[in-house]
Amino acid sequence: MGTSCDFGSSSFDSSSDELSTNIGELDMESSSRLDGKRWSSCKSQDRINLSAQGADLAAADQRSLTQKYRPKAFREIVGQNIAAQSLSNAVMMERIAPAYLFQGPRGTGKTSTARIFSAALSCLATVDTKPCGICKECTEFFSGNGTNLIEVDASNRKSVSRIKHLLDNIPPSGSSSHYKVFVADECHMVSSSVWSAFMKFLDEPLPRVVFIFITIDPDNLPRAVISRCQKYVFSRIKDIDTVCRLRKICVKENLDVELAALDLIALNSDGSLRDAETMLDQLSLLGKKITPSLVNDLVILFL
Ligand SMILES: [Zn+2]
Repeated sequence: MGTSCDFGSSSFDSSSDELSTNIGELDMESSSRLDGKRWSSCKSQDRINLSAQGADLAAADQRSLTQKYRPKAFREIVGQNIAAQSLSNAVMMERIAPAYLFQGPRGTGKTSTARIFSAALSCLATVDTKPCGICKECTEFFSGNGTNLIEVDASNRKSVSRIKHLLDNIPPSGSSSHYKVFVADECHMVSSSVWSAFMKFLDEPLPRVVFIFITIDPDNLPRAVISRCQKYVFSRIKDIDTVCRLRKICVKENLDVELAALDLIALNSDGSLRDAETMLDQLSLLGKKITPSLVNDLVILFL
């Protein structure tokens, strides 16, 4: 999944890689305002953005390529076949662990995969492919109106109080038929006191509550936490996979580009699909044919 270069494939209409590291956060103020409504009322900034995207097609054209082509299905995840297949199977077989650890370099699909996994856990479809993208739950999730995913960025200094607040407001066991997914991005920044709060749930998991810890630096995580998680290692994206994805985006965006330029973008992205897409995004703004020479000019600017 996500590796064949089916140039111009009709299945390619909403793909791309993950995130910026501070999206999807609840701010404490809104969290406080929602106190009492708890999980069911929390909405991440990213999903608010998604909602705006769905509501305003004109605004959609203003999105970055990474936002515009963010993957919405396991098959659209690039270069992480083992993680995508395992998580998809886990949903199908209903063998969901209470905690997962997604580790790997930036721009390799960790947060996108966490979101797709979250959507799949809520999907109402009876087919083998979840998330289906068309059921009520999927529609709500991808339009930004879903209620079962909470994302926090642990690198934010306000995160300590925020995470504790959210953990204090996890619904009682069995109070919902839906999975609640708590995603902690940059979790290597979590303090020991917050890890203690997490451990309470890792030692005594709640039904239908799933934690996903995301990090580029697993060496800075408590061993006790790692041992309680299903671990998925996200590797750097191969250049050939990056080029395939960029070619598809170029077709969709009707960009005039030399294939050698895409090779050069992939070479300079160091395995980060997000970096490659960002570079293509910047090059596309120049309004002229994207050549290797143009790529080199852009790369030099950032050296
Ligand atoms: Zn669905």
